[in-house]
Amino acid sequence: MCYDYSKLQKDIKLLTDNYNIIKGFSIGKSVMEKDIPCLKIGAGKKKLFLGGAYHGLEYLTTAFLMKFLSNYAARLMTETEYFGYDIKNLYNSVTLYTVPMVNPDGVDIAVNGLDITNEFHRHLISVVGIHSFNQVWQANARGVDINHNFDADWRMVAERPSPSKYSGEYVESEPETRALVNFIRAESFDMLLAFHSQGKEIYYDFDGMTGERSIEIARKMAEESGYAVRVPEGSAAFGGCKDWFIKEFGREGFTVEIGQGTNPLPMSMLDDVYEENAKIILCAMNECK
Ligand SMILES: [Zn+2]
Repeated sequence: MCYDYSKLQKDIKLLTDNYNIIKGFSIGKSVMEKDIPCLKIGAGKKKLFLGGAYHGLEYLTTAFLMKFLSNYAARLMTETEYFGYDIKNLYNSVTLYTVPMVNPDGVDIAVNGLDITNEFHRHLISVVGIHSFNQVWQANARGVDINHNFDADWRMVAERPSPSKYSGEYVESEPETRALVNFIRAESFDMLLAFHSQGKEIYYDFDGMTGERSIEIARKMAEESGYAVRVPEGSAAFGGCKDWFIKEFGREGFTVEIGQGTNPLPMSMLDDVYEENAKIILCAMNECK
């Protein structure tokens, strides 16, 4: 079993039907014209952005974020604490905006492949030269890696559309990137967490631009989760969402690499990664408030 876009849509309906404190809306459309959903919960002035599945094979991050929102909402109905955090206080201080699947086309291509009748099928096969997507596909439906398409020291890694690491023809060339950038600018978030898989690592820097506060928060999240604190290197060091967020706003942005293994991490790993990453979100909310 995998977690694709139709599963996400069902879970969003369940969540918003069950809890009127969760509001769902779209921040824009993907290349294949899927709505990119966002879920909002909280009554606080501070705003924390959570993003998942920037990459097709990393849908376990979506499953995790949806499970966290469901458990957080359920807890708020009956309890005051969650993993030792005062969640009534967090709810009143911090509003969470979660985009659980930044790259819905990429996830569906990785999980379900592309139907031969799909207009993108022939094009992708001709430019990328592969027929099977389920072990390799990280990009969007045009073969652009969303997390290399942001305006943060943008440059070419791969030369043409590829399963991963092609930065696009120019900065923000892709509708998914533009939807995210416009939304993040409009809401002016205090902090951002971008979830990827895998490695059990927390990345906190972009180009030496982050201050002591970022390091301090990264260390606290690491302590809560057992994850390692890292400074990005090589192609992971530019063009990403948290890189752009740090560069553009000078606020704290982090990449969290959930779990350990070979992508796609199996859905059976969800329970294993749940607590450590739930604590990372709660810790971030606590530092944000
Ligand atoms: Zn990723």
